[in-house]
Amino acid sequence: MKVRVELRKKIDESYDIIIEHGRSKTLAKEIIKGGFGRKYCIITDSNVEKIIGKKLLAQFTKEKTSAKMISFPAGEKSKNLGTVSGILEKMLLLGFDRKDCVVALGGGVTGDIAGFAASIYMRGINFVQVPTTLLAMADSSIGGKTGVDSKLAKNSIGAFKQPKRVFICSEFLQTLPKKELVNGMSEVVKHAIILDKGLFSFIENSRKKILSLDKKTMAFLAKKNCEIKGGVVEKDEKEENLRKILNYGHTIGHALESLGNYSKLKHGEAVSIGMIAEAEISKALGLMNEGEVEKIKKLLKAFGLPTKLPNYDFKTIIQKTSSDKKAVSGQVFYSLPKRIGKMHSINGRFAIPVEDSIVIKALAVCKK
Ligand code: ADP
Ligand code: ZN
Repeated sequence: MKVRVELRKKIDESYDIIIEHGRSKTLAKEIIKGGFGRKYCIITDSNVEKIIGKKLLAQFTKEKTSAKMISFPAGEKSKNLGTVSGILEKMLLLGFDRKDCVVALGGGVTGDIAGFAASIYMRGINFVQVPTTLLAMADSSIGGKTGVDSKLAKNSIGAFKQPKRVFICSEFLQTLPKKELVNGMSEVVKHAIILDKGLFSFIENSRKKILSLDKKTMAFLAKKNCEIKGGVVEKDEKEENLRKILNYGHTIGHALESLGNYSKLKHGEAVSIGMIAEAEISKALGLMNEGEVEKIKKLLKAFGLPTKLPNYDFKTIIQKTSSDKKAVSGQVFYSLPKRIGKMHSINGRFAIPVEDSIVIKALAVCKK
């Protein structure tokens, strides 16, 4: 006997990313207009709660829409199941139901935690993203990856959960510490290297404007980066092939982050060194030329990002890369640029196995 449950689904998860400057004062109104929920649950961290959260909550009250705020201690250390379970219980106590909507207000850590909470609360409720760091505006708020770290591996527990809308108010960057801004620049430069030579030149020529948070420049950067990342995600949401190009700099980067116990290097810093190391791998494979590698190094350095490999044994680094969740049965894959704006592929595949001897050769250059 057999009973078949037909579940062929056709779903449209398309969403808009709204990029504005100077509209943060009417943000709640904009969110409410979208009709994403009857009540709103703002999830944020302890810093953003004080700087932006309280004002946003007051806006909801002014608009006579029910909203509550739940916060957790700022920092990557909060990205665990304990935090999520605490948030879910608070949501239950506050009476949120399936018709309500989560507002993820903050940086990448908040987006990951709040998006994941929304994906499992009552088997999934709506959520919108309000990124407040450059890293989140240009990268992590797009693409629907949400989740937390386990003690054993970073980002190992999670779900794909697309937001209903992303609201980017670039003026939120005004209060962001410089170190955090620079951290976000690493992914911005990455997007330029993998797909947009013109953006790379733009960044080279706009360093001062970026660092002084010139409005037009920051809005342009946010838009360009959303287009690049959104374009990749559209074609390959589940990272079967093309989306792997976003991992450029991350194979070595993740290993360095992990070796520093996620406290010595910030994500963007580790990715900066990772991008240089992986450009060197590309050079060692005879793909990228010396001049292009130097251009990448120079740009990252100009923003104050680290470019030199920390003092870890090469074998230890390679061992770490093979325990990365993206390695398959211990085989490590790299996504490598062949020149600025163009990624290398073999038979159409963007994840490429590289021999340890080549990696060692490249790492040795990065020490200098
Ligand atoms: P990321 O966005 O790099 O993944 P986080 O979400 O941890 O990282 O944010 C980095 C730090 O910046 C956190 O301490 C967070 O509280 C703080 N932060 C986020 N947005 C702002 C902002 N607009 N102004 C000031 N501090 C902020
Ligand atoms: Zn990254």
